Amino acid sequence: ESERLRLPPWLKTNIPTGNNFTRIRDELRKLNLHTVCEEARCPNIGECWGGGQHGTATATIMLLGDTCTRGCRFCSVKTARLPPPPDPNEPLNTASAIASWGLDYVVLTSVDRDDLPDGGSLHFAETVREIKRQNSNILVECLVPDFRGDGSAVKTIVDSGLDVFAHNIETVELLTPYVRDRRAHYRQSLKVLESAKEKNLNLLTKSSIMLGLGETDEQIQQTLNDLHTAGVDCITLGQYMQPTKRHLKVVEYVTPAKFKHWEEVGNSMGFLYTASGPLVRSSYKAGEFFISSILK
Ligand code: SF4
Ligand code: SF4
Repeated sequence: ESERLRLPPWLKTNIPTGNNFTRIRDELRKLNLHTVCEEARCPNIGECWGGGQHGTATATIMLLGDTCTRGCRFCSVKTARLPPPPDPNEPLNTASAIASWGLDYVVLTSVDRDDLPDGGSLHFAETVREIKRQNSNILVECLVPDFRGDGSAVKTIVDSGLDVFAHNIETVELLTPYVRDRRAHYRQSLKVLESAKEKNLNLLTKSSIMLGLGETDEQIQQTLNDLHTAGVDCITLGQYMQPTKRHLKVVEYVTPAKFKHWEEVGNSMGFLYTASGPLVRSSYKAGEFFISSILK
């Protein structure tokens, strides 16, 4: 077995602190909401929850349970063929919690629910509607599964009144079968993004790529081209981190300078925004970026 790569200095981060962080964390405890930010121990939590220049606090909430029907080789979420049924009260409870919390921008995401006929799309849509009904100023991004390419599930999400439709391509085409679950396909993911845009041209679409899995520069460029052709507006690029020893190894720690390069490439290709950096995650400061891109 080959040695694991050493963690470079730019990936060593401090535990977040600060007033805003502590306040939000304490409120969350009371509301019984589960954020990906906390569960994945995301290093950006201080920045995202803190708000930044435009004061736009972002958090990512997990819907539809903690058990996925798929098993991607980069992901540490637990897997089962038949997870417990969704909680029918979740849309309302989540929305009430979010509205009382005072967030500006929320990312709703979920595990893949291939066991549900609609893939969980109605559950997402209901949650969006309920959030908007309680506070129409909250911006909502849905980071959704591929729904096995089911166009009606995509339409359910698009018609829910959300602000940003996100689906992650995750990696380049050649590596997709090694990295993602065998039911996920590169072309299918592009199709999902493209059809969301076709269904509503005013909707912002967004996708994310992990680097460090052994992809070449040409393959990254091709993926950016494919996303651009699919009408995707916003992209994020970040370093893949191995969650446990059983998961895919990191092939390379991409340098901050290289991430900067991809940010420049993304900007010159005309994406509305490109967030690219070692610690960038798909929802990294999503609210901040959203506001600055519409102010452009
Ligand atoms: Fe993880 Fe999503 Fe893959 Fe499920 S589909 S294993 S949640 S990355
Ligand atoms: Fe949460 Fe995403 Fe920000 Fe991490 S990057 S703190 S998961 S919103």
